[in-house]
Amino acid sequence: MAWSLQMKTLKNKDLEKNIPKKTLAENSLNEDHKLLVQWYEKNKRSLPWRISKDPYKIWLSEVMLQQTTVTAVIPYYDKFLNLFPTVQHLADAAENEVMAAWAGLGYYSRARNLHKAAKHLAENGFPKTAAGLIEFPGFGPYTSRAVASIAFGERVGVLDGNVIRVLSRRHGLHLEWWNNKPRQELQTLSDHLALLGAPEKTNQGLMELGATVCTPKKVMCILCPWSSKCVARKNDAVELLPLKKARKKTEIWVWKPIVAIKDKKVALVKNDYAPFLKNQLIFPGQISMEKNKPKDCKLRHSITHHDIFIQVELKKNLAGTNLHWVNLSELKKVNPSSLLQKVLGQVL
Ligand code: SF4
Repeated sequence: MAWSLQMKTLKNKDLEKNIPKKTLAENSLNEDHKLLVQWYEKNKRSLPWRISKDPYKIWLSEVMLQQTTVTAVIPYYDKFLNLFPTVQHLADAAENEVMAAWAGLGYYSRARNLHKAAKHLAENGFPKTAAGLIEFPGFGPYTSRAVASIAFGERVGVLDGNVIRVLSRRHGLHLEWWNNKPRQELQTLSDHLALLGAPEKTNQGLMELGATVCTPKKVMCILCPWSSKCVARKNDAVELLPLKKARKKTEIWVWKPIVAIKDKKVALVKNDYAPFLKNQLIFPGQISMEKNKPKDCKLRHSITHHDIFIQVELKKNLAGTNLHWVNLSELKKVNPSSLLQKVLGQVL
């Protein structure tokens, strides 16, 4: 066990000095676990993916919830399951149909990986462990642990932004969680909690606590099951934890896409020139990184740290062997990004 970490977390002066340290750490985690599970059972929100143990539905919800809020996900989740009620339906679907159902949710590589993995999982079934699931496209450490614990009861802990925040505050950990070693310490702590039993409730409890009580702002410690034991609360350090990672500096890009339309078809190329929407079909064109924002360019779009200023050029025709001519009505299916729609909106 990572006792070094646990001792770091148990500095409170009010702990009995002559109780063996290991017992203190064990007791503390046992009690945390009990309080957390009880709190979750009482306070969990009623969400559509919580009524089933079907690994496909749990997996789908976990993938959709990455980078997206619960409120935004619910209608997509329902629509997706209506179209593809089982992993077999998803595996049998054409990629265009999957992308169309995902359009608007963003981060489209999630949908591509979901579809790819479904083809394997429909044929061979879901492995019941995180170690087995992580072999499939799009299953990172978080998703594989979430699915294995919630659907199959494997005693493995999850670690996402919510869990990092809750554990860092509860234990007063000033860790650079974005680096491997400190992150592993938090993972170990989460694993220890899950090992104490009911991993589906432990993991969902941690995530729920982070989403509804131990939030980034307006923290509601009064409603927290750990409020009397929380180190950050005692030390008035709630706002300081977890440590904040320096943001990637925003880059200014000027993109000059060429929109060529012929017979209700538009020319696209596989993107090997722009730093966003990589390897996806986008308009041909040119791009440059600039120091200053161009003054006369009103069309603008942001993707992660790319601040994109767009100057559209309309052409009647275009030649080239690398062009893909796509029906205008199919564009959303081929590339659902709102950036392409924004560009097209300028010329239609
Ligand atoms: S007491 Fe407050 S800061 Fe500590 S874990 Fe609970 S909600 Fe978070």
